[in-house]
Amino acid sequence: MYMNTNTRIIAPEFDFAQPKSLDEGFALMDEHGADARLIAGGTDLLVQMKMERISPAWVISLARIDELRAITAGKGLSLGAMASIKEVSVAAPVKAGYAALAEACNAYSTVSIMLMGTIGGNICNASPAADTAPALLAFDAVAVVKSARGSRRVAMADFFAGPGKSALKPGEILTAIELPEPAAGSGSAFLKISRVVADISQVCVGVSLVRDGDRITDCRIALGSVAPTPIRIAGAEAALGGQKGGDAVFDKAAEIAARDIKPISDARASESYRRHAARIIVRDALKTAWQRAAEGAAK
Ligand SMILES: Cc1cc2nc3c(=O)[nH]c(=O)nc-3n(C[C@H](O)[C@H](O)[C@H](O)COP(=O)(O)OP(=O)(O)OC[C@H]3O[C@@H](n4cnc5c(N)ncnc54)[C@H](O)[C@@H]3O)c2cc1C
Repeated sequence: MYMNTNTRIIAPEFDFAQPKSLDEGFALMDEHGADARLIAGGTDLLVQMKMERISPAWVISLARIDELRAITAGKGLSLGAMASIKEVSVAAPVKAGYAALAEACNAYSTVSIMLMGTIGGNICNASPAADTAPALLAFDAVAVVKSARGSRRVAMADFFAGPGKSALKPGEILTAIELPEPAAGSGSAFLKISRVVADISQVCVGVSLVRDGDRITDCRIALGSVAPTPIRIAGAEAALGGQKGGDAVFDKAAEIAARDIKPISDARASESYRRHAARIIVRDALKTAWQRAAEGAAK
């Protein structure tokens, strides 16, 4: 029976497995196929199950696969898919080099969701409103995906296929998200507008730019909640490349972003509000990233 309300119980029965290794997880997924769903923190999946939008016969937990939790910094940064949003938000290398990602995690609606929700779940759920997505797009992150048949790398720009749809194929598990080392002179920022703090975004933006003196040598701008997937705005990025940084070019890029997004009107905001808000937060995020880049550290 389809129910429209979010109840406290999960009515349909299901079997539950807790593999201790990726190989065990792959075998379970291959055995149960479309009858199985992976669960990480469960903050998206359990809502879907309670509302009976999905009723998997098997739920396979990733919680006991220790190798999925690691956050490691070397030349760049590797975030295990099972790292919680809270763990990512407080990780020293994230705070030191990837300010937009730390801010995206800290923009989450509640502490309990930050503690339970994982970065991998946020991406694999493929919501247009996923807070970490614009930051990961702005950092040109890559998803590391594994299955019994091998491993592949998917650029974050190719990961999102539509609302609730990702590039993951049957039997695949996202194991990590890798971020390249920021270039010297980098600065980044993330901003989110929501109806109340405890809500997903009406609009959010992640930007990352590289500053050489008074010029912008590279820039990525990505928005959430303004299209069927989180998106980069190529026109706005092109308007900044090679230009002198400052209010005039930031305003121009923000106008292009507001024009090129494809927002809808829904319960959270109207299309016109989303365009207006996008212009403001793109401009403000660019200003902040520009200022951070001037402060010397790769932020
Ligand atoms: C009250 C509430 C508030 C919320 N606030 C926010 C917010 O402010 N910002 C925001 O962005 N989101 C928010 N969310 C959504 C949710 O909490 C996040 O998307 C969270 O990061 C999901 O992570 P999870 O580990 O709980 O995912 P899960 O629910 O465990 O999984 C989500 C989906 O991804 C799949 N999956 C998970 N991990 C993997 C993997 N490693 N490989 C392959 N598939 C995988 C699952 O099968 C499932 O389909 C909120 C949710 C609730 C209920």
